[in-house]
Parts: sequence; C-alpha cells; structure tokens
Amino acid sequence: MVDQTADHVGAGRGEEPVVGVGGKLERAPRNFEELSVSRAIRLATRGIVLRCPHCGAGRLRESWMKLVPSCPSCGLRTDRGEEDFFLGGMMWNIVFAEGLLLLSAVLIGILTWPDVPWTLLQWVGTALMVIAPFVFYPFSLGFWLACDILIRPVTEEELSWHRENPSDTFRHIVDR
Ligand SMILES: [Zn+2]
Repeated sequence: MVDQTADHVGAGRGEEPVVGVGGKLERAPRNFEELSVSRAIRLATRGIVLRCPHCGAGRLRESWMKLVPSCPSCGLRTDRGEEDFFLGGMMWNIVFAEGLLLLSAVLIGILTWPDVPWTLLQWVGTALMVIAPFVFYPFSLGFWLACDILIRPVTEEELSWHRENPSDTFRHIVDR
C-alpha cells in the first residue's frame, strides 16, 4: 500500500541498500522522479504555510522566531539533526527580504516615473529592511526545510534516528 501523505517518493524504487565495491554499504541511484516540479511545489507549499514538508500534517511553528523541535505528527526534526541547519533558513530570509526591497523599489520607480520620490524610497527601503526579515523568518525556515527535503529526501533510516533522538543530539554527516 502506498503512503499518500509522507514524502517517500523513492521508497521501494532503488532505496534498498546495496553492497558496493569492497563490501561498502552504498545506496542505489535515486529515481529522478524525486526532482519533479509537482513534488517541489507540494514540499514548498507545505514549508511556507509552516506544515511539515515531509508528512504535511504537523504544524511547525512554536513561536514567531522558533520552530517546534520536531514534527508532532511524523517526528522529523526541524533541524534534521544538524547544528547549523538554520543557516539555510537565514539565507532564504535574506533572499526574500532583499527581493521585496528590489521589487518595491522597481514598482515605485515605474509607477512614479519621472518624478520618483527618492527620499520616500530611501525611508521605505530602510523600514522594509528592519521589518521584512522578522516577518519572513519563520516562513524562510519552513521553506528551507522543504528545499532540503527536495534535494535530500527523508529516508526511513533517518526518520527513525529523529524519533530516537528528539532533542539536542546531532548527526555527523560525512560527505561522500
Ligand atoms: Zn511531519
């Protein structure tokens, strides 16, 4: 039976560990369906509305500046067991805030051309740069979690680690 809610796109299709050269445990290549546009939209939408991108059921927001430590529904940790996971959320926060600044400046410039109110633009820009990062912060974290799951789908093995280690222990990821 196919699980309709959890994001296990690759489950059952090349996810089984195989023994590679020298007896080292390796994984078979994943199915490229994992990178489909519909899956990306589904994950991003869940992340932006602060639902767990993996299962779509658990609410992720604890307070405005903080996500819950793990999804109350599937147990996925919102830091994916990595100490510096929030850095990706901060990166998207800068992108969204700067994007809003650029968009509003261009829009005001076009709408008021040739008499562009430069002083007003300067103050609006400054106010936006103070307010926008706070407004976008939780959504940036949710969006980043969705992006990360799109690139590195959650495996059953990882999920069981998250359920067994719900607090401040971290995985040590080794690049292969
Ligand atoms: Zn979940």
